Amino acid sequence: MSKNSIEKLPTYLAIPPLKKDSMAGNGPFKASIEIQKDLGFPGEKVDNWQQVAINKIAETKSKYRSVQVFLDSCMKCGVCTDKCHYYLGTADPKNMPVARQDLFRSVYRRHFTFAGKYFPKLVGAKDFDEDMLDDWYNYFHQCSQCRRCAVFCPIGIDTAEISMAAREI
Ligand code: SF4
Ligand code: SF4
Repeated sequence: MSKNSIEKLPTYLAIPPLKKDSMAGNGPFKASIEIQKDLGFPGEKVDNWQQVAINKIAETKSKYRSVQVFLDSCMKCGVCTDKCHYYLGTADPKNMPVARQDLFRSVYRRHFTFAGKYFPKLVGAKDFDEDMLDDWYNYFHQCSQCRRCAVFCPIGIDTAEISMAAREI
């Protein structure tokens, strides 16, 4: 018999107490401007980056209908909150799948819904500002797109698809 023993997993995983912003600023390494330019990217933010991003969101939501359906249909039931290994490992609430989606949802609501345009605070709509852009960069790259959360969502919302769309934008 092997000398190594394998620890038996508990029936239920321990849910860590929240550590707000514990993973803020932990985005992937950024390539140099020269390398980015060689790959066909501008290398740094263009002056009207917000408008460019909003135009790209408009294109994304008409191209991938599922993304718009996912953004419109979350009922905030909370089932997915403890299903992401990134949340379980970091305790950062923005790594909960529903919170990760909300980074996209809040900008989508602000620019593409009546309530978000006129009553943003009532519906959690937010501007696409520098802080939001940083959160998009950091937290959408902290999703491995494994789709574990989608298996548990009672209405089949796939956070991986939202992450993929956000990274493309
Ligand atoms: S499980 Fe689905 S519906 Fe419930 S909060 Fe998560 S994404 Fe929204
Ligand atoms: S798809 Fe992303 S958010 Fe969902 S469990 Fe996997 S890493 Fe977490």
